[in-house]
Amino acid sequence: MTSRIIIAIDGYSSTGKSTFAKAIAKELGYVYIDTGAMYRAVALFALRGGCVSGDNAVDETALRRLLMDGSPVDISFRASGPGGGSETWLDGENVEKEIRTLEISRIVSHVAALPFVREYVDRRLREIGAGKGVVMDGRDIGTAVFPDAELKIFMTARPEVRAHRRYEEMSARGHSVSYEDILVNLSERDYIDTHRETAPLRMAEDAVLLDNSDMTVEDQLEWFRDLLKERNLCG
Ligand code: C5P
Repeated sequence: MTSRIIIAIDGYSSTGKSTFAKAIAKELGYVYIDTGAMYRAVALFALRGGCVSGDNAVDETALRRLLMDGSPVDISFRASGPGGGSETWLDGENVEKEIRTLEISRIVSHVAALPFVREYVDRRLREIGAGKGVVMDGRDIGTAVFPDAELKIFMTARPEVRAHRRYEEMSARGHSVSYEDILVNLSERDYIDTHRETAPLRMAEDAVLLDNSDMTVEDQLEWFRDLLKERNLCG
C-alpha cells in the first residue's frame, strides 16, 4: 500500500472537475478541496467591499488594502453532509450559494489574475495540502501550487457539453440563467485563465489528459481506477 498522495486536477471551466474530484476523494477517503471556491469567495469579498465597478473591473489597490491590511479575511470549508462535499464560509458566513452566481463568475477570473490574490490563496492551499491525502481541483494545482503532486490530471470537454452541464447545475440550484450567457462566460474565463501572466491555466507536462465529453461519472471513475493500478498508486 503506497502512502497518501496529493492528486491535482486542473482544467477548463465546467469540465466536471469538482464532480470527478469529489467522487475520487470519497473513494479514497481523501479530503476534497475546491480551489475555485476560494477564488470565488475572494471575488465576493471584493464585490462586497466595493472593489468592483460596473464593467467588472477590479480596483486592485483597494482590494489589496482590504485583503492585506485589514483584519485577515477568513475563508474556510466545512463539510456538508456525508457525500464528501463541503461548503464555503467567508468571515463566519456560509456563502456557498452566493459564490455560484453568474455575477461572481463574471468577475472571478479578473480577481484570480491578480498576483497578490494568488499568493494569498496559494498560501492557504499549501497549508491545507501539507498533510497529503487531498484531491484539489483548480487551474494551476499541478503547475504552480503543488508541482510535485504525485498524480496530475488535466480535464477538458467540448464547449457545448460544458455549457450544458453548467446550465443544468445552475438551474437545479434555482439560478435563472440562459445557456448562451453561460457559454459566453465560459469562453471569457478560459481566455483570461489561459492568458494571465501569473500561473496561467496549462497542462503540466507530467499530467494525464481526460476528455470526458462523452463519459459518465462512472466511466470516469473506471478510467481513474485503471490509472491508479497502472501507476501503482494509493494501494
Ligand atoms: O473552478 P471554478 O470555475 O469555480 O473557478 C472559478 C475561477 O477561479 C476560474 O475561472 C479561475 O479564474 C479561478 N481559479 C484559478 N485558479 C484555481 C482555481 C480557480 O485561477 N486554482
